[in-house]
Order: sequence, then structure tokens, then C-alpha cells
Amino acid sequence: MTDLASQPALAQTESQIYRSILDVISTVEPRVADATAAELRDQRASLKLIASENYASLPVLMTMGTWMSDKYAEGTIGHRFYAACQNIDTVESVAAEHAKALFGAPHAYVQPHSGIDANLVAFWAILATRIEAPELAEKGLKNVNELTGEDWESLRGKLGNQRLLGMSLDAGGHLTHGFRPNISGKMFHQQSYGTDPQTGLVDYDQVAAAAREFKPLILVAGYSAYPRRIDFAKMREIADEVGATLLVDMAHFAGLVAGKVFTGNEDPVPFAHVTTTTTHKSLRGPRGGIVLCQPEYQPAVDRGCPLVLGGPMGHVMAAKAVALAEARQPSFQTYAQAVADNAQAFAEGLMRRGGRLVTGGTDNHLVLLDVSSFGLTGRQAESALLDAGIVTNRNAIPADPNGAWYTSGIRFGTPALTTRGFGTDDFDRVAELVVDVLSGTSVGTTKDGKPSKASYVTEDGLAARTAAGAAELLDKHPLYPGLEL
Ligand SMILES: *Cc1c(COP(=O)(O)O)cnc(C)c1O
Repeated sequence: MTDLASQPALAQTESQIYRSILDVISTVEPRVADATAAELRDQRASLKLIASENYASLPVLMTMGTWMSDKYAEGTIGHRFYAACQNIDTVESVAAEHAKALFGAPHAYVQPHSGIDANLVAFWAILATRIEAPELAEKGLKNVNELTGEDWESLRGKLGNQRLLGMSLDAGGHLTHGFRPNISGKMFHQQSYGTDPQTGLVDYDQVAAAAREFKPLILVAGYSAYPRRIDFAKMREIADEVGATLLVDMAHFAGLVAGKVFTGNEDPVPFAHVTTTTTHKSLRGPRGGIVLCQPEYQPAVDRGCPLVLGGPMGHVMAAKAVALAEARQPSFQTYAQAVADNAQAFAEGLMRRGGRLVTGGTDNHLVLLDVSSFGLTGRQAESALLDAGIVTNRNAIPADPNGAWYTSGIRFGTPALTTRGFGTDDFDRVAELVVDVLSGTSVGTTKDGKPSKASYVTEDGLAARTAAGAAELLDKHPLYPGLEL
């Protein structure tokens, strides 16, 4: 039904194609062929609940394995620094055309290799538009190369001295939103807004107050671990009041925007000056990034190469075009709605069985479970779930007493299993399995007999019992059915 990843009519051919591909790889490096085959077996045999992962369709995967990878094409469509780029021009144009139509964006730049790269392009495009361009205009210059030594140093000083306000990491923000281990935290003076300690929700009055006081050049909205929707009209109002550029990073939830689950004020694209996304999470494409923007940011965004990118990846832009074409099909809207419905069912299933959720629920594709109610750290819960074939990741929760390494939370997401065709009843059963594992797991001890934050003990027979439950669901919804390797 909603699973584009299965196209049984072609299955026979696809099996033959992939068998041949693995044979060819084996002639050069069998360990790579073996690992590739093993990865498919492993993905088929586990309940993948990692919120940032998905399964791309076979057409998308196949598009990546071609000679479109062999071409250098620095520059933009029709304006390249290399000869013979006509076919790269075609795939880049098709990808951009689909991205604009899908998201209703005036401009789409599809070259970024990842979400981090898309954000880097966006940051520097905003700096170039807001800081560099006016400085050049004032001096009557066209190009930074025309600046003399002292003026160039002065501009460099200004570029490196701007302010950025984003969501805090422990409230669900992303490392690229101004945190010191990432270049964004080294480029900008950064402050963050959190969530309300009572409700766990974004408090727009607090965001507005922080923006008034800090006066950022860039206000970032977007998250990787916040289980709720955001009102982007309010975010734009706050940005406008303080003269900030609104950058929305929809890396996680782009599939819900594409699938029209997030509309009106929950659709960031009409409100943001610049919107960035990954293409491989809920959007279900190849690994990569896209920048969408309003016309005033287009000239700077299009200079992502050579600003922070080198040559674009022709094979990946081609796969983005295929994935975006899939996302424009009505079936993708059915998929996106199922992702959200499944998250609801899963959240309710956890809560009904005693699970405590950050914000008390979800209204997007992800669920954050506070595992301290089971007496465990995130690290212990993640490992015990993995033993039972349930793949998740631990995640800090707001004001986490266990810090970012051990954590007190587990993040779950529904995009991947929804692609396999899981429905709400299946997700209720997954919730039952998760609670079964966590209830049957207890804290282990360190070498000197103290309670450990990492080791754990499970009830006899627990892993086998849950693995059997998981296998039943996985068999019901095979991954790439018909693809036999
Ligand atoms: C995943 C993510 C990114 C980074 O994407 P990569 O492709 O891993 O570089 C950036 N921002 C947000 C909000 C994300 O969730």
C-alpha cells in the first residue's frame, strides 16, 4: 500500500540485477560484497525505529550506482567550470524542478552532499547576503576579490562576529544549530532557547524574549529530537521583529511537509527565508541535502560551490530527482499520514503500558521515551532493545541527569517501518515489545559492585521471546519483497 520500496512486478529483474552487482563487486573485493549482502539481511531482520533512517526505493538506490558519479560539474545549471556537463545539467534541473514544485519554493539548490553541508551553505549564504553584499555595494564593488587588504580584513571580522539563536541540544535542537563541537558554534556567537519545563513544549514568548535581548542575525527553527510540531508563522513574526533571517532546518520532518501532513503554519517553506533539509530521513531519498530559499538569497545560495562545496555528486542529484518524483505521487501523502498516525499509535501504546513520554505524546514522526521510569539509563535501554532486535538510539531529554553520553531517553521514529507497510496495530505491538524488554531489564553492577550506567541484566528468555515477536511483524511486512539475494 504505502510502501514504495516494494515493486513486485520488477522483482525478478531486480533480484538478477543485484545478484550480478554483488558478483561483480566480489571479483575485486569480496569483503565489500559480503558486507553489502549482510547489511540487507541485518536491515530485514530488525525493527528499525531510528527516527532519522528510512529505506529508499530500489529505483532511488539503483540511480546512485552509475557513471553519473564520474563527472565534475562545479558551478550551476548551464554555468559550469567544466566542459560537457549537459547530462548533469539535466538531472540537477529535474531535481530542482521537483523540489520547487513539491515544497512550493521559489528556488531549490540540490547540490549539498548532506544536511550539515546544506546548513553550511545556508549560513554562509545568509552572511553573504546580509553582511558581505551591502558592504560591497557601498563601495561600488561587485566581487570580494576587489577588496583591498584592510577592507577585506574588516569584512572578515564582521563575517566572523555574527549571532545565531537556535533550539538547545537537550530540547531537541541539532549540533549544527550553533554548538561548539560543530563549525556553526565556532562561526557564530550562539544562544539557545529551550522548552517549557512543565509541558516540554516550545514557548514562543520565551523565544521572542530571547530574540529581543540577543538580536540574532539568524533565528534557527528545526530539530532532531522534538516530538511536536512548530508554528513557523510565529517564528517568522519573531524573526521579523528583531530583523533576523529565519532559517528552518526541516531535515527530520521534510517528509511530513512533502506529504502535506504539515500544512498552514506548520509548513515552514512559505515562512522561512531559507529552508534546509536532508533527503534521506522522512523524505526517503538518497543521502544528501537541499537548500530552498526566497529569491533574495538565491544568488548567494547558488554559490554554495565554491563557498563550502566542491563538485556536486551527479549520481546523488539524479537519485534526488527520482526520490522527489516519488514524493510528488499521491501515495507519498498516504505514506506521510501513516508515519504520523503510526507515531500516535506507538506513543499511545507506550503510555498505556506505563511509558513516560517527553511532552506527553507526539504529533510528528518521533517519540521520546523517558526510560528512567524503568530505572534504566538510555544506554542500558538502547543495548537491551538491540539484543531483542529493536534498533533505536539513546537521546538526552530536557535537563537530563545522565548527560549526553548515558542519557535518560530513547528516541523512536516511525518513517522506516511505515515504509515496510507497518500500520497502527503493528506499532501497538511494537510498543508492547519495547515495554516488555524495558520491564524485563534491570541495572547491572560495575566491577566494584556499584550500580552501573552501562551494564544491565535481563530476565531469562526475554531476548528470545521478544525476537520471536519482532520476527512475526517483520515477516508480515518484508523489506524489498521479491528481492532475493
Ligand atoms: C540529521 C540532521 C542534520 C544533518 O544531516 P547529515 O546529512 O547527517 O549531515 C542537520 N540538521 C538536522 C535538524 C538533522 O536532524
